Amino acid sequence: MLYFSHPACLDHDPAAVMPGHPERPERLRAIERALAERDWLGWERREAPAASGEELELVHSAEHVRAIRELCSRGGGAIDPDTYAVEASWEAARRAAGGASAMVRALLGGEDQIGFCGTRPAGHHAERERAMGFCLFDNIAVAAELAIRELGAERVLIVDWDVHHGNGTAEIFRHRADVLVANIHQGGIFPGSGARQDTGSGPGEGFTINLPVPGDSTEELWLELLDEVILPAGRDFEPSLVLVSAGFDAHRADPLASCALEASSFGRMATLVRDFAAEMEAPLGAVLEGGYDVDALADCVVATLEAWSE
Ligand SMILES: [Zn+2]
Repeated sequence: MLYFSHPACLDHDPAAVMPGHPERPERLRAIERALAERDWLGWERREAPAASGEELELVHSAEHVRAIRELCSRGGGAIDPDTYAVEASWEAARRAAGGASAMVRALLGGEDQIGFCGTRPAGHHAERERAMGFCLFDNIAVAAELAIRELGAERVLIVDWDVHHGNGTAEIFRHRADVLVANIHQGGIFPGSGARQDTGSGPGEGFTINLPVPGDSTEELWLELLDEVILPAGRDFEPSLVLVSAGFDAHRADPLASCALEASSFGRMATLVRDFAAEMEAPLGAVLEGGYDVDALADCVVATLEAWSE
């Protein structure tokens, strides 16, 4: 199992521009502390390289990439009421996207079957032309597109279990039949997209799965939707690569949502997805998205990586 990270991901820090922002370096420090205490569960640690401009432009416009670079080089600032960048965010964001890219290169190159990117900023809200929802570049979308265009993957399944709808990834692949994007998310909260009846567009019709859940939902519903809706659709899709937008903000302690999962719930979802990927003979890679109660976040990542270490 391969764990990708980079110290630069700790330097994307809201203190100077949005003090009190929940997407802060301590999230990653808590994860790394918990994993270090467990000898990284036997995972091999690798340094996330910086994504190239070409990689970022697989899913983003050159204008968007340039705008983020220029904002950071000016010292950063607020992009919208939720989303910030500082000077160091340029390097952090390129390491986050580059880690996801390096992970799929390693997985599809046959180096290992399972990977996890412990990187930030997160990515699944970033759209082709704009940053939003704490996200600058869509890391998992870059990885999925790279897998298809350059690494020989025919079809990629993206399971997004972050509590928020991954609008950026969904929009980037909305018209595509070779990327199945499946979301479970709390309905009625940010970003407001992800209605059940939205199943994709044009040639991508049927390759978007949106499963909004009530704010008090527990693991019973999440596991049922994963096991009885997403994975059966995935089986028909026969992915050559399985990716997870691994946000952990559906945990009951999370301050940004009100679902009621436990850390062990993520371990159970992780096991279901791993067994599915093994059945498909497809490698499995996950990219960190949200999770804002730092202690719960660390517990959830440990539960996920433990499930994938067995
Ligand atoms: Zn989230």
